[in-house]
Amino acid sequence: MTNTSRSESLFQRSVKIIPGGVNSPVRAFKSVGRSPVFIQRARGSKLWDVDGNEYIDYVGSWGPMILGHAHPRIVEAVQKAAIDGTSFGAATERELEMAELIASIMPSVEMVRMVNSGTEATMSAIRLARAFTGREKIIKFEGCYHGHADSFLIKAGSGAMTLGIPDSPGVPRSISADTLTARYNDAKSVTSLIDNYPNEIAALIIEPVVGNMGCVPPKPNFLSELRALCSQNGIVFIVDEVMTGFRIALGGAQQLYNITPDITTLGKIIGGGLPVGAYGGKKEIMSMVAPAGPMYQAGTLSGNPLAMAAGIEMLKILKSDPSIYSRLEEKSSRLEKGFQSIIEKHNLPLMQNRVGSMFTVFFTKRNVIDYDTAKAADVKKFALYFNEMLNRGIYLAPSQFEAAFMSDAHTDDDIERTIEAAEHSLLKTVQ
Ligand SMILES: *Cc1c(COP(=O)(O)O)cnc(C)c1O
Repeated sequence: MTNTSRSESLFQRSVKIIPGGVNSPVRAFKSVGRSPVFIQRARGSKLWDVDGNEYIDYVGSWGPMILGHAHPRIVEAVQKAAIDGTSFGAATERELEMAELIASIMPSVEMVRMVNSGTEATMSAIRLARAFTGREKIIKFEGCYHGHADSFLIKAGSGAMTLGIPDSPGVPRSISADTLTARYNDAKSVTSLIDNYPNEIAALIIEPVVGNMGCVPPKPNFLSELRALCSQNGIVFIVDEVMTGFRIALGGAQQLYNITPDITTLGKIIGGGLPVGAYGGKKEIMSMVAPAGPMYQAGTLSGNPLAMAAGIEMLKILKSDPSIYSRLEEKSSRLEKGFQSIIEKHNLPLMQNRVGSMFTVFFTKRNVIDYDTAKAADVKKFALYFNEMLNRGIYLAPSQFEAAFMSDAHTDDDIERTIEAAEHSLLKTVQ
């Protein structure tokens, strides 16, 4: 067993003063039956906790760290920016550079507004869609997570799903009534909502590849069917690429699946590890955002110099070196094959989903294609597996309903060690 005594004592102090001891529920190890390890530092593919244990990290700060931790060019960009002042609350050249970079990578983004988190991006995007259409209802998919704004905590994925609170108390009925839920990978479930609420639906929002009920890829044509349904019915098509943007391809899911959103929401990688989000899309729609138009949305720290410096450097590196994405694919595929051979060799009741460098091993034999099939996974077995892996120095998300992330910093040795640890851990827990 790994010694985590210092983490445990910090956690005991934390729970007294921070709800649940953590500043975001997904960081708690509650669903895997232990207290979290406290991280002291990170570099490349590795994390070190406060007890000095080393881990190979597959959480990557929940997505942003696609180049690995403490990338020297990003660290340097932040340091240089800080010397000139950490915030001005005024227009800067970096914000313009960031906007132009995003538009050059994602052609559907004709205009873009920077915010401070993915949650801010999605909540602003639906306000904008409502302003643009003059309608009030939105469609989201069961098990998709779009941040913690009221409208999205209806059959929500990620921590809400893990902790069994997909419909949070505190969300007014008047707001939840305007969120309609459809079934992921089932375009007919969307058609019937559109039929039932003609001319009432402002927006449809989706994770193009779901990461927040574990990794669930879209069926062929699912996304293009949704695109067509939205166009036919005057519904704003919002593709939430907070996780998938710059991750599954440089241009995100919209590039990989060849779809054109009306609005795209971004976060995670775009901040290089600093708190950043963005929403952007068609000029006609984005022109409604204040002060160009009447839809109000603001932010004291939006476009913050440190965050822009980190994000710009991140996007420049990704844009200038397409081999990053082929390396990510190659390494992720090798890891997937390693797991597959363990599953087949020991005939284990598991299945895997993967899109590029996003993947999940589900503790079920059924194909996981939506919320219901994801929920069929054996979370007790997952908890045992998680603990075995942690004790072997592999840091996974402490929930079955999350994706794992490969980074460009993961080495061949990391992957071999992960496969080896997985075989031991699975044999101890699944049988
Ligand atoms: C993480 C995430 C969000 C929320 O972003 P925060 O920065 O945590 O507010 C929204 N949508 C998706 C798809 C995400 O993965």
